[in-house]
Amino acid sequence: MLINNPTKKVDYTVRDLSNILKFREKKFITDLDVFNKRVLVRVDYNVPLDKNGKITDTRRIANTLPTLNYLLKEKSKIILISHLGRPNGKIVESLRMDPIHKKLKEFFPETNVYKIDDCIGKEVESKVSKLKNKEILLLENPRFHKEEKENDPKFAAKLAKLADVYVDDAFATAHRKQASTYGVCSFFKEKGYGFLVEKELKFLSSSIEKPQRPFTVILGGKKVKDKLGVIKNLIGLADNILIGGGMAYTFLLAKGYQIGKSVKDLSKLEEIRDYLRDETHGTRIFIPKDVLVCDEIENPKKIKIVPVTEIGENDIGVDIGPETIKIFNRILAESKQVVWNGPMGVFEKKEFENGTKEIARYLAESDIVTIIGGGDSAAAIEKFDYQDNMSFISTGGGASLEVMRGAPLPAIDCLSDK
Ligand code: AMP
Repeated sequence: MLINNPTKKVDYTVRDLSNILKFREKKFITDLDVFNKRVLVRVDYNVPLDKNGKITDTRRIANTLPTLNYLLKEKSKIILISHLGRPNGKIVESLRMDPIHKKLKEFFPETNVYKIDDCIGKEVESKVSKLKNKEILLLENPRFHKEEKENDPKFAAKLAKLADVYVDDAFATAHRKQASTYGVCSFFKEKGYGFLVEKELKFLSSSIEKPQRPFTVILGGKKVKDKLGVIKNLIGLADNILIGGGMAYTFLLAKGYQIGKSVKDLSKLEEIRDYLRDETHGTRIFIPKDVLVCDEIENPKKIKIVPVTEIGENDIGVDIGPETIKIFNRILAESKQVVWNGPMGVFEKKEFENGTKEIARYLAESDIVTIIGGGDSAAAIEKFDYQDNMSFISTGGGASLEVMRGAPLPAIDCLSDK
């Protein structure tokens, strides 16, 4: 249901796009002199692993192939660095880069792909000095050193010592100020971004700079705080914002509804009320009219659909209801472009997946330009096997949210100007 009363038309010319568009002023990999050079490439190979340490999804590696192939063609000596998981500054055997090394060898059967058990120090330097053109060396997880996350300049200097040129192709970590994504930059004269970063930023920025209209933003998931920043930036730019998922309950609360035991963020109620009161922008905001509630998320015994006026005090809202799906799909039917971040319910559980699945199906079967903002929405689209029907699925959850919030991306800002 519509919960505000915008009086003006959307006017996106007032939007400050400087952070989103900054990458255009920075050097792209093809602007760099990488021929015959030692090139340190920050990639994001933070891939999912199963219990046996086997990679369950290799796309993060596959996504960097355009950059790696370009560097091989340029006869570079490629030094790859990526974090994996959260070892918290200690060596964690299960978070070594070995499974990724194995996968890289499969991707490049004709190329020598080496791996070394640290990312700084004498041994690493010696290995790098022996690296030949068109060879690849994968460094060990830099998060084994606490200095990585602390963005320690001495640690960054040791990393930088390994190469002549720096390329950032880790879009998913572009919002992080760590030694291998940010600190390292100040030690390089030649530094730019790779093909994956280019693709992500081009898609995300053009969807905001020149949206096809009507432009609808779908927001879900449960972290209200993160998503409110997106609303702040896109209000007045999007024609419609549809709010589902866990965050919808804080909106319902702000409108005075009872939400039982559903997730909420009380610290954000006033901010939400301000958005709803503000009539000076042209964005229509919709929240659910009915929801699916249960008694317990893990082992639900009672599940029912209720209008939002009838959520009981022990109910937990876990999905949008059929009326809401209809209303949301009606708005989508009028839209030419959609940006979606965050699932409509606890889609990981079969009982609560319907809302997310139905919205995904509607978009997949339509001609609407659909951009999936990464993270859990991307996982949901893949779960329902609609990934090939979307215009673009971002590989960066947090980073794509930052782009949509209009926030700076430190790992891009620190690259060389053209
Ligand atoms: P976020 O990281 O904010 O995009 O949140 C994603 C998570 O939100 C997913 O794991 C969903 O299971 C969860 N989620 C979606 N809807 C709800 C809900 N109604 N209650 C609790 N969690 C939810």
